[in-house]
Amino acid sequence: MSKIPELMPRQPRLFRCSVVRSERYTPSMQRVTVAGPDLASFHWQGYDHWFRLFLRKPHQERFVLPEISGPTWWKPFLATPEDERAHCANYTVAGFRPDTGELDIDFVVHCGAGGEPEGTAAIWACGVTPGEDLALLDQGLLFDCPDDASDVLLVADESGLPATAGILRALPRDAVGRVIQEIPTAGDRRDLDAPAGMSITWVVRDDPSAVPGAAALAELRGHVPARPTGYAFIVGESTLATEGRRHLHRSGLPKSRITFSGFWKRESHEKATA
Ligand SMILES: Cc1cc2nc3c(=O)[nH]c(=O)nc-3n(C[C@H](O)[C@H](O)[C@H](O)COP(=O)(O)OP(=O)(O)OC[C@H]3O[C@@H](n4cnc5c(N)ncnc54)[C@H](O)[C@@H]3O)c2cc1C
Repeated sequence: MSKIPELMPRQPRLFRCSVVRSERYTPSMQRVTVAGPDLASFHWQGYDHWFRLFLRKPHQERFVLPEISGPTWWKPFLATPEDERAHCANYTVAGFRPDTGELDIDFVVHCGAGGEPEGTAAIWACGVTPGEDLALLDQGLLFDCPDDASDVLLVADESGLPATAGILRALPRDAVGRVIQEIPTAGDRRDLDAPAGMSITWVVRDDPSAVPGAAALAELRGHVPARPTGYAFIVGESTLATEGRRHLHRSGLPKSRITFSGFWKRESHEKATA
């Protein structure tokens, strides 16, 4: 069906930039816009184009730029004492405007069992001010739809909403299929630039104590792929990704036609409080 853009070369490229603004985009999503001269040569591929984000940890006085060289850059990075290196987390390009060199990142604002904000990157995003330095390491696409796919299925919790939005925006306008998109509240629904043949099911969780991804998985379990020639992309909490893939494979979709990725893993209460 779609002609997929070339995959990124394996030599990762680091882009230095700084924060332009940070604002609440929807009730559960903080949008941080960054820019910098480096981004003039950023090649946005659309779809779910993702990157590793490096940012200052709360106790650090200044941002520590990681040394990145070669495909095994993470070895020296992880060998640096944790206190001294930047925080690293994975994010999706929510938008990129080459004319201004501005790039948007949508951070899920998530809370712990006691309702307190959690996550170094999410907390950083909510409190960051213009001028703060950071860096992005370009990683390319996970979305890998075969050219002959008869239809496309996208399934995600809110951490995958920027990917869903980007894929829908980039798909050929004659693409057909379905989206199952979980969001924490009705207010997190957003306009999606989707091909007319993609039907969209918003699954509103509306329960702060529910595990993200479980409602999307329940909806997915009621979905049977129309043909074994389709393609599915499932991302979000680890159980959604692995169990979603299992369901689709059992329902007749070959594993080679399913991309799945645990974007994050829910820590069990025991582990979190250990
Ligand atoms: C390719 C890729 C693209 C991604 N794109 C995005 C994106 O565009 N936007 C986005 O928000 N996330 C995205 N994620 C997920 C993001 O990397 C993780 O959620 C990451 O853990 C957030 O980092 P943190 O520093 O805020 O939290 P961490 O310090 O990693 O985690 C702290 C605690 O928060 C919990 N937690 C982490 N994420 C969530 C969540 N979403 N909901 C509830 N609890 C959570 C963890 O289980 C842990 O207990 C992406 C992941 C991948 C692999």
